[in-house]
Amino acid sequence: MSEMKKYKMYINGEWIESTDGEYFPSYNPATGEPWCYVAKGTAEDVDRAVQAAHHAFLHSSWANMTFTERGRLVRRLGELISARVDELANFETLDNGKLIREMRGQLSYLPEFFYYYAGLADKIHGKTLPIDKMDMFVFTSREPLGVVAAITPWNSPLYLTTLKLAPALVAGNTIVIKPSEVTSASLLELMKLVDEAGFPPGVINVVTGFGMPVGDSLTKHPLVRRIAFTGGPDSARHVVRNSGENFAQVSLELGGKSPNIVFEDANPDNAAMGIIAGIFGASGQSCVAGSRAFLHVDIYDKVMQKLVDRVSQIKIGDPLKNDTEMGPLATQAQLERVKQYVALGHEEGGKAVFGGKVPEHLEKGWYFEPTIFEHTDHSARITKEEIFGPVLSVIPFKDEKEVIQLANSTNYGLAAGIWVSDVAKAHRVAKAVNAGIVWVNTYRSISPIAPIGGSGLSGYGREGGYEAIHEYTQSKVVWVNT
Ligand code: NAD
Repeated sequence: MSEMKKYKMYINGEWIESTDGEYFPSYNPATGEPWCYVAKGTAEDVDRAVQAAHHAFLHSSWANMTFTERGRLVRRLGELISARVDELANFETLDNGKLIREMRGQLSYLPEFFYYYAGLADKIHGKTLPIDKMDMFVFTSREPLGVVAAITPWNSPLYLTTLKLAPALVAGNTIVIKPSEVTSASLLELMKLVDEAGFPPGVINVVTGFGMPVGDSLTKHPLVRRIAFTGGPDSARHVVRNSGENFAQVSLELGGKSPNIVFEDANPDNAAMGIIAGIFGASGQSCVAGSRAFLHVDIYDKVMQKLVDRVSQIKIGDPLKNDTEMGPLATQAQLERVKQYVALGHEEGGKAVFGGKVPEHLEKGWYFEPTIFEHTDHSARITKEEIFGPVLSVIPFKDEKEVIQLANSTNYGLAAGIWVSDVAKAHRVAKAVNAGIVWVNTYRSISPIAPIGGSGLSGYGREGGYEAIHEYTQSKVVWVNT
């Protein structure tokens, strides 16, 4: 342990150990071995961070900073990230096992989110209200909320942090971030850039550690006014219960069981490639993973053949190598979960047409083959529950009405893909499908301008786009008797 890197937390502009001085290991999923140690935060550390953020919100130079200046700082942070993409990507790959080229791609686009929100900083305004009383002048303004808590999972650490951090800052809030215990390094590296950019102490704080006690005490802290949570449903229920103590606002970005619907007039090559990128990108560990493919019976064989042909060529292995196409799962627990779901798929009568096991040539690390299950109907649990791994369920359908009913037959509502040529049908199905994000003849496209979010078990609230500014501000109305 002595030779391995040890990360401290970042609170009030300082690097500090946890109050009890403990550290925990962070593992490299490609080897299953620890590669660094991270400070194990406590409830006292959370209180320290929230107090610092509260003080910064009310009393630091941040409190009186103009919106333009705040925007400039946020833009500066984006510029510093853009100069450090390779390094940050390397830390993310070491922590979560995602492909280095995927992380580089994601992180080189990340500054755009900072620039987008920086550009909105001086466009957050209220309106005058034409009240029907001559002697009254009435106007609204958008005010920051105060201290925001951001809780993130391990699959896209900096991207999912940015969706919270950038709008929260330009709106004038301060923030305490709790990264996943699986992936703390890249966020702590980012804090060096926060320092360099010149944010006043306390505006951005990071407390590392586990859901219990760090996430728990953060979400019950009376000074936290908003909780932006991305993760799984069990933790989300806990967060919502805690938020009730002090009526903090909450947004939940949870999982999904997203459908990719392929109609008979779709381009089969594009559809097959879209399905593969949708489910096997990030080894299936994406909230918007297109884990169900509904193929029209008239195009079924053709698309299925293309899926199997391409998937059988996917090169699995070391995520740090540029030519690797699929890396390991992020944790051993995740690997066990995938194995259990695959066993269940077999028990339920699904037919694995490809994959279904740990690759023979990879003895170390948490790898699993890209797996395709064929089902005759939509009754199996693996077609309804989020696996968060490289497992695709393929289901045939005969007509539009049937496939909409099937696509909407889970309790999730995050994303959907539609592969079709008929434009009218594309619009009808996009409207009918229960999803917060719909992609037509594309999948997993993102932009700072486009909001993200779902309904049902996928959570509520929106991240990204202008919507996020509303999520991080509240309206104030002022009546002036003239
Ligand atoms: P998780 O719920 O286990 O952990 C997420 C975060 O919550 C971590 O930081 C964790 O420490 C924290 N946490 C755990 N228990 C807590 C508690 N009691 N109180 C407060 N915080 C607590 O999820 P995970 O395994 O890290 O991530 C996988 C899940 O995240 C999947 O379900 C996936 O679909 C979802 N996800 C959603 C999106 C989206 O944008 N919709 C994006 C990525 C991942």
